[in-house]
Amino acid sequence: MDPVEIPPLPQAVQVVSSTWARDSHDLFDFEAHHLHTKTFTVLQPMVCVRNDTEVMMIRDNMSMPMGSDPLLRITQKDDRSFWVDKVSTSTNSKKLWRVVRASSTGHHLTEGDIIKLGRFKFKVRQLGTSQMAQPELRLDDANGACCPASLDHEALAATLCRICLLEGSTEEDPLITPCLCKGSIEFVHLGCLRYWIRGRLNITDSTSGGSYFYRPLACELCKAIYPTYVTNSSTERVPLVEVPRTTPPFIVLENLVRDSQQHASRGLHVISLADKVLKLGRGHESDVRIADVSISRCHAMIRFNQGSFVLEDNDSKFGTLVAMKKARLLEPEAVSIQMGRTVLSLNVQPDHGYGCASLLQAPRTEERAIRLNLLARGRPDCEP
Ligand SMILES: [Zn+2]
Ligand SMILES: [Zn+2]
Repeated sequence: MDPVEIPPLPQAVQVVSSTWARDSHDLFDFEAHHLHTKTFTVLQPMVCVRNDTEVMMIRDNMSMPMGSDPLLRITQKDDRSFWVDKVSTSTNSKKLWRVVRASSTGHHLTEGDIIKLGRFKFKVRQLGTSQMAQPELRLDDANGACCPASLDHEALAATLCRICLLEGSTEEDPLITPCLCKGSIEFVHLGCLRYWIRGRLNITDSTSGGSYFYRPLACELCKAIYPTYVTNSSTERVPLVEVPRTTPPFIVLENLVRDSQQHASRGLHVISLADKVLKLGRGHESDVRIADVSISRCHAMIRFNQGSFVLEDNDSKFGTLVAMKKARLLEPEAVSIQMGRTVLSLNVQPDHGYGCASLLQAPRTEERAIRLNLLARGRPDCEP
C-alpha cells in the first residue's frame, strides 16, 4: 500500500483578548466582571496592538495606528507553525508574561526565571536539589569576599577592634577590614562583626529545614555593603553571616525592588522544601509574606515534585506570572499571556478550514496523532 500523502493543512490561531477597564500598575484583575473581550482568528503573521481598551490585530508590514501600544507578535515558521513573541527585540518592547493561573500543570521553574505576583517581582536565583548543595548568598552588587587585615604580626597585636575595643588578631578570630572606614575604626574582629550582624538580621536556627531571609547589611558609618564571604589564611571561603544549614531541596528567591524607596526590602528568601510546600501571600502563614494590596492572602505556591520545582497559582486576584524568555510555539492547548492590563489566550486550530469534510477524516486523525506526538516532544517550555 502506498504511504498516505498528507497535504499540509492550513492552520489558524484563535486569540481571545480580555482587557481590564482600569489602568493600574500594569495589573489585570482576574476577578473583574467587566472586561473588554474580543476574539480573533489569525491566518498569517500579525502584530497585536492596544489603543486604550481596544485590542486590534494589524498586518505585520502595516504601520501602527496612532496612539496604539504594540503588545505582541504572532509569527509563522516555514509557512506552518505559529509562534508568539515580543513585538521587537529592543529592550523597551513590552515584556510578555505567561499566566500561571490558566495552566493546569503549573509552571516548572528554572534558575533565572522572573516571577511576578501582583506588583512584586522575584528572581529564581538558585534551585538546590543535591544533598551537598547550600545557598549561594551573593547579590549582584554585593562585594565578593574580604580578607583578613594584611598588617604584620606586631602591628596587628597593637590594633584595636572598633566594636569590642580590644586588640589582637588570631586565626580563629581575625581582625578584618570589611568596609571603607579608615583610621581608628578600620578594623573589626570577625566574631564581633558576626555578633552585630546576628542581632540585625534576626536569623534563627529554629526554622524548619533552615529557611531564612538574608539581606546584605551596610556599615552604618561609611554605608559600604559588607562582603558576603570572608577568606581566611588558608584561603577557605566562609560566609560572613552565620546562617543555618538548609536542607535540600531548597529555593533561593531574590526580591526585585522597583526603586530606591524599597531598597530596605532587598534580599534573598532561602526556603527549604524538604517537607513542605512554599506559600507566597499576604497572610501570616506565608513563607514569603508580602504586605501589599495587590497580593492575595494565599497567592501562589511552590512545591517540589519529582525532581522539579513547580509554581502554582492559588486563584489569586491579580495573578501569578512568569516572564517569557523566548518565542513560544502555539499549540492546540491554549496559553495565556499578559501584557499590562490585557490578557491574551492563544491556541492553534490545526484543522482550520476543513469543516466537516468527512472524506478527509482518516488522514486528518492520522496527521493529528503525528502532530501531537511532535508537539509533545518539542515543547519549548519543557526542556530540563
Ligand atoms: Zn572585637
Ligand atoms: Zn565603614
